[in-house]
Amino acid sequence: MTKAVRNLCLVLGDQLSFDLASLDGLDSQHDAVLMVEVMEEASHVPHHPQKIALVFSAMRHFAQALQQRGIRVQYVALDDPQNTGSVPGELGRWQSLMQPQELHLTECGDWRLEQSLKDCGLPIQWHADSRFLCSRDEFAAWASGKKQLRMEFFYREMRRKSGLLLNGDGTPVGGAWNFDADNRKALPKGTKAPYPARFASDSITQEVLVLVRKHFSSHYGDLDTFDYPVTHTDAQALWDYFLDYGLAGFGDYQDAMASDEPFLFHARISAALNIGLLDLRQLCSDVEAAYWSGGIGLNAAEGFIRQLIGWREYVRGVYWLKMPDYAAGNAFGNSRPLPEFYWTGETQMNCMRQAIGQSLKHAYAHHIQRLMVTGNFALLAGIVPSQICEWYLAIYMDAFDWVELPNTLGMVMHADGGYLGSKPYCASGQYIKRMSDYCRDCAYKVTESTADNACPFNALYWHFLMRHGDLLRGNQRMAMLYKNLDRMPESKQNALWNRGQRLLAKLDAGESL
Ligand code: SF4
Repeated sequence: MTKAVRNLCLVLGDQLSFDLASLDGLDSQHDAVLMVEVMEEASHVPHHPQKIALVFSAMRHFAQALQQRGIRVQYVALDDPQNTGSVPGELGRWQSLMQPQELHLTECGDWRLEQSLKDCGLPIQWHADSRFLCSRDEFAAWASGKKQLRMEFFYREMRRKSGLLLNGDGTPVGGAWNFDADNRKALPKGTKAPYPARFASDSITQEVLVLVRKHFSSHYGDLDTFDYPVTHTDAQALWDYFLDYGLAGFGDYQDAMASDEPFLFHARISAALNIGLLDLRQLCSDVEAAYWSGGIGLNAAEGFIRQLIGWREYVRGVYWLKMPDYAAGNAFGNSRPLPEFYWTGETQMNCMRQAIGQSLKHAYAHHIQRLMVTGNFALLAGIVPSQICEWYLAIYMDAFDWVELPNTLGMVMHADGGYLGSKPYCASGQYIKRMSDYCRDCAYKVTESTADNACPFNALYWHFLMRHGDLLRGNQRMAMLYKNLDRMPESKQNALWNRGQRLLAKLDAGESL
């Protein structure tokens, strides 16, 4: 017989924070926490096995930590024979067993899941997710009346709100809000990135790895390389390691890419942050302190803080403002399915092979690999936005719907017609050559555009501009690109178009490039 409770607090797999709003005021005598591992959430897209392992293991550790604090936790493992397989199903089952008077829920990170919980038949007390700096309402008020949103202006608001990197008079330290221009250096030859911090699996994680191997072996991605922190303590250790060894190089080389260097100077903390093992405000204040102590340059500190209180908060705001219609955006009318090689890495394009290969191996790639390699290719090749969105959501350890969808659909694919970003991030192979060493070992030649061995990014880039001139020529930020196109002799334009057509025909025939 299960003991009845007064309040039931459902804690989801990305809500593993001790200061979660819905846990506040929980009475250990009368209330209980419910945590459930369910097949629906683990497989509605084919999530990378490491991501499933991370979430389940971190949930089990968090449940144990709550119990050690005297909180009653009802935990449902994936292979519990009574498990109904979905969050609403489990909620219904435990409602019957525990007879709670009220359900406490912190806002979800996924519109689909939040909708499915609204009609659970119990009074729900919703709690705003205070782990973010900007609430949904505050963002909506900021966006109100604006036809187009721009992250840069939102970011300034968040700098003012947080007080980060501000002078006493409210002006930005260093005289500018954004030092991104200093963060685009290519990696000098021979640069050594710090050895990545790795975390051994304890008995809880090992049990989870067996479970994931048993149930999710059909999902793409390696499980054997799992080395990610699953507790608050280890996530803090990962962060401390970054502060000591990564942050100083992060600013200069955050856009750089190198063969067989999956992490470079990146913190790799995004998954831990997104599931609640790290605290946004603490991270920002640590980075600011590193700047004031003279340990890092302003470009590194500002760039990192902008990612957290600027871009991350901004995409969340857009997501909740625009869902559910946002997910259907397809401004370019793309109809080409996602090529199979996104799931296998089997392509002659070295940049794609490197970016996809490390994503399969570590469930991780950094923002430029995502935006300017795999994302850029999907944009240029005209891939159906929902399919590339599903790939990003599935393959990356840190991808949850609120953060993945605007980043992929809006920023990568420009499929929202420019609501989130002012121009598409399209680039030829020249950008990849400048920012990486990938072209050196590629079957294609980055210096060629129309030959059979020419870099596919080159012709596809011009093909993209030619086929979407109607939509993009009026965009001021694209004017220079179209000027360059118009200056080309017609014969060159035709050759680029024809090479683009041949490449797209290969994709349509199901061939790899
Ligand atoms: Fe990528 Fe083109 Fe460079 Fe090959 S040549 S690595 S396809 S950018």
